[in-house]
Amino acid sequence: MWNRVVSKKKKPLIWVVSGPSGSGKTTLCRKLLSKKRLNIGRSISFTTRPIKKGERNHRDYIFISKEEFLRKIRRAEFIEWKEVFGNLYGTPKKLAYDLFRKNKDVLLCIDVKGALEIKKKFAKRAVFIFVVPPNERELIRRTKIRAREDRGEMQRRLACVKTELSFVREYDYIIVNDHLSKSVKELESIIYTKRLENVLHTHRKNY
Ligand code: ADP
Ligand code: 5GP
Repeated sequence: MWNRVVSKKKKPLIWVVSGPSGSGKTTLCRKLLSKKRLNIGRSISFTTRPIKKGERNHRDYIFISKEEFLRKIRRAEFIEWKEVFGNLYGTPKKLAYDLFRKNKDVLLCIDVKGALEIKKKFAKRAVFIFVVPPNERELIRRTKIRAREDRGEMQRRLACVKTELSFVREYDYIIVNDHLSKSVKELESIIYTKRLENVLHTHRKNY
């Protein structure tokens, strides 16, 4: 009994991070992944959207044609996929399952509809975190500073914010990303807490 409790292995978890475009979720996720002690694996999504200034293929996304993406859908190669802002984005199955086999958590930075899909498929082992900027003005400011989208695309993304916010009730945690270092600490705290909780749940169920 003692040995079983002490040596209890936790199941790998899926950390799902969403939030409006410009909220800072990608920056936060990068910071998290750079903390080796957290031992979280990164999923790289496939997308049909064109590569943008400052991005690198196979680092930020795997950029593929629509035909290739549709072929992958037919072959059931995605855990989930969605159309977001007029382009297709999908989480590859292989990478995530390889990480699970190594008993490693995986981080998904995906949109709200994709997050719901993960909730349906992995309700028990996924944790949902929603990132918001402190206010709308700051969201616009950050989007402008990043200067990644043209004016039309920026407007299109901003028009979706209200809808995205309406999904917030599906999430376990909200991070108000005002100060980056504070937000990173909050994210880390969630991770440490949830990992312990996961172990306790497993114990409760089995003993
Ligand atoms: P998202 O992935 O949500 O679209 P990004 O991570 O690309 O957003 O961040 C958008 C912009 O805001 C980037 O220029 C980033 O450096 C900046 N940013 C992110 N978090 C903060 C923060 N807490 N304070 C100020 N600027 C931030
Ligand atoms: P961006 O074009 O700004 O990189 O991403 C646009 C939106 O697509 C963001 O909300 C981002 O989180 C989401 N996204 C990125 N990869 C995936 C994915 O694999 N699946 C889903 N559903 N959304 C994704």
